[in-house]
Amino acid sequence: MRHLGQAALGIPAIHFMTQTLPGHASPRYMSERERLSTPATQPKLGVALVGLGKYSTEQLAPALLESKRCRLAGIVTGTPAKAAHWREQYNIPEKNVYSYENFDAIRDNADIDIVYIVLPNAMHAEYTIRAAKAGKHVICEKPMAVSVQECEDMIEACKTANRLLAIGYRLHYEPHNLAMADFGQNKTFGPVKKVLAKDGMDIEPNVWRLKRKLAGGGPLMDVGIYCVQGAIYTLGELPVAITAKEGKKTDLKRFKEVEQSLTWTMEFPSGAIAECETSYAKEMNLLRAEAEDGWFELQPAYGYEGIKSRASDGPFDLPQVREQTLQIDDFAECVSNNKISKVSGEMGLRDVKILMAIYEAARTGKKVKLSEFAEKRRNIMH
Ligand code: NAD
Repeated sequence: MRHLGQAALGIPAIHFMTQTLPGHASPRYMSERERLSTPATQPKLGVALVGLGKYSTEQLAPALLESKRCRLAGIVTGTPAKAAHWREQYNIPEKNVYSYENFDAIRDNADIDIVYIVLPNAMHAEYTIRAAKAGKHVICEKPMAVSVQECEDMIEACKTANRLLAIGYRLHYEPHNLAMADFGQNKTFGPVKKVLAKDGMDIEPNVWRLKRKLAGGGPLMDVGIYCVQGAIYTLGELPVAITAKEGKKTDLKRFKEVEQSLTWTMEFPSGAIAECETSYAKEMNLLRAEAEDGWFELQPAYGYEGIKSRASDGPFDLPQVREQTLQIDDFAECVSNNKISKVSGEMGLRDVKILMAIYEAARTGKKVKLSEFAEKRRNIMH
């Protein structure tokens, strides 16, 4: 009988129930929702969303409505019409509405405990630093920033202000992805030899994601980052070498400023490899591990819902959850207990270092070594 291993390898978010999965002789995970749904005794923390685009509108605001530990208390927007609509829809008082210009005045607003940055990637650093200087805890969306230096500055600013920083890595709260980490790290199917990770979509033209200055890069920054993350949490190791190749551009107009696609290989200390692919012109959504005694995979792997899982010895269906609510509630728990988030700024920095190494490997055609990770692996693993 297979056992989903306990959280011995730094996966504290995994909890267990006693039921057995149909077709898979394993106990089932207790979902993060069940773990965090114990009645909150403290008042809810106030969250201000910075940037009211698609992700804030369709995912984060509904997630905050479901949250047991946080509430949508404020907004930061450059569009007065949006402000009026959001104020009415979410019952937000006028004093909790800010523009990008007067945002720093948020320091005097006791209703706001956490600022959540949901802006184009190149704006993450500025607003994270301003939020920290205003004395607020920060959740910043992925990718953390568009350069390693920016990530370091963000971490420093939060440290100096004695505020916590987390990255919007929602999949660290998603049961199927947690199961991949558990199977891989606990060698449920024997040691993993190879990970295949692919994430791509067919992007609409004329969006900020296609502008280098705002996005910092193309699909690698946006969705390829999930392949990097997936490989790391499945293997429980950090990559020590990377080779990469940019794909041929078939749409020069749409992809004038950023790559259309990229493939890359990451080598890990155990000898395992991860073969990854990302694209803005092809739909792909896979995280698969091939191990000595079998395989396990998610397809689709990285969505907000509908994640499907299979393994060589049967399915491992787990609860579907609202990932963002769990992610936000966990951060609230960190803030209440002054505890570093499992999706910390350091993890965001780690990933941006890897993304930059992938770009370097693609640009130079040479293998890029990440010797830093070989030395201090465990403190940025989850
Ligand atoms: P979006 O284009 O829908 O929204 C961007 C928001 O930023 C808009 O409200 C826009 O008005 C505002 N903005 C301010 N200055 C801007 C400027 N100069 N140019 C363009 N927009 C400007 O984007 P989104 O999909 O909501 O993504 C926002 C961030 O959230 C990105 O960093 C993205 O990677 C991240 N994101 C994360 C997830 C996830 O699953 N964790 C999902 C989607 C997006």
